[in-house]
Amino acid sequence: MSTDAADIQALESEHLLQVYRRIPIVLDRGEGSRLYDTDGEPYLDFVSGLGVASMGHANPDLAEALADQAKTLLHTSNLYFHPLQGQVGERLARLSGLARVFFCNSGTEAVEGCLKFARRYWYSQGVQHRTRFVALERSFHGRTLGALSTTAEPGYRAPFAPLLDVTFVSPDDPAAVEAALTDEVAALIVEPIQGEGGVWPLSNDVAEAITAGCRRSGTLLIADEIQCGLGRTGVAFHSATLGLEPDLMSLGKALGGGVPIGAVLMSQAVADAVSPGDHGTTYGGNLLSCRAALVFLDMLEHGGLERIRAAGDRLGQGLEAIVGRHNVVREVRGAGLMRGVVMTEEAAIAVVAGAQERRLLVNRTGGNVVRMLPPLTVSDSEIDQALDILEQSLAAYAG
Ligand SMILES: *Cc1c(COP(=O)(O)O)cnc(C)c1O
Repeated sequence: MSTDAADIQALESEHLLQVYRRIPIVLDRGEGSRLYDTDGEPYLDFVSGLGVASMGHANPDLAEALADQAKTLLHTSNLYFHPLQGQVGERLARLSGLARVFFCNSGTEAVEGCLKFARRYWYSQGVQHRTRFVALERSFHGRTLGALSTTAEPGYRAPFAPLLDVTFVSPDDPAAVEAALTDEVAALIVEPIQGEGGVWPLSNDVAEAITAGCRRSGTLLIADEIQCGLGRTGVAFHSATLGLEPDLMSLGKALGGGVPIGAVLMSQAVADAVSPGDHGTTYGGNLLSCRAALVFLDMLEHGGLERIRAAGDRLGQGLEAIVGRHNVVREVRGAGLMRGVVMTEEAAIAVVAGAQERRLLVNRTGGNVVRMLPPLTVSDSEIDQALDILEQSLAAYAG
């Protein structure tokens, strides 16, 4: 097996489905907020595998727990009990106030679960016409057919039509959001901060319209917290910051710190509608992924949230200062350790490339936004370094 970067890329391009536009860096090691390529070159990682490496890379607590679990028991299927699902479920319920959890393996599967359980809820109420979904423009909820149906991006949708019947409304128009919630809608799905669409926090006006519309029409609310939840903004779930009271919540990304796991949290009322056999998955909540989630939740609950709040403030203040110094930056959006630096598309492309040359990994989302999504364990000095490199890259672009 070759460790040469060119050989690794050639092998992939011969055998893998060409569905990703990969950046030509081959990474084979990490430590904390650093990644190393095959030449041993270090990168400061402000992508964190799209918000997944929540505890940093090669986290010793996680590594030890996973090795121990691998030597004990990895998987049993959901035919039997094991000791860990209940423990993770109890802690997620305590953090969210939602009574019950269903475990799956990815974000998109968690969204599928939310959509199915919402349909199941109305079916068990005997309300058979209440099958439609409402989602927001700029939304991203995943790539499987149900989740894709609630994802706004036309380029992702068109090749796979027809999809589920979903009404998209503008997240900038509270009245339109309210009006879309009728007694034909099973559920409204929203990201409290839209991630892939360009780091757009929901406004308080829209959050109020959602609460009012759901209350009036009885529409269920699904909060997709896959990217913005689980501590990313310094609170357990960003929907709470907006005053939203979701009936269902989708989780993924940060929860396993790199081990694939997703989860659907739901109210007791929704859970009551679901019967044994209605839904399921082979891997969901196996011992390996639950063990990882327990390490993550330990980190979060034992000082993690406070630390993230402080780190998020530092990043936010540093970015606000940069806005003032660089005309090319229009604004900074987001919260905590989820930030989008808004510029032109041309500038965003150049700044991401410039940062990479200076060994900082950030990525572009929503076309013209440079997104910063570091590990939740990122240190103050790493934040300062990232801000420095971002500023150098902006200056280099400005000429
Ligand atoms: C990443 C993401 C998803 C999809 O998760 P996968 O694990 O890639 O399937 C869904 N919703 C949001 C908000 C996301 O950021």
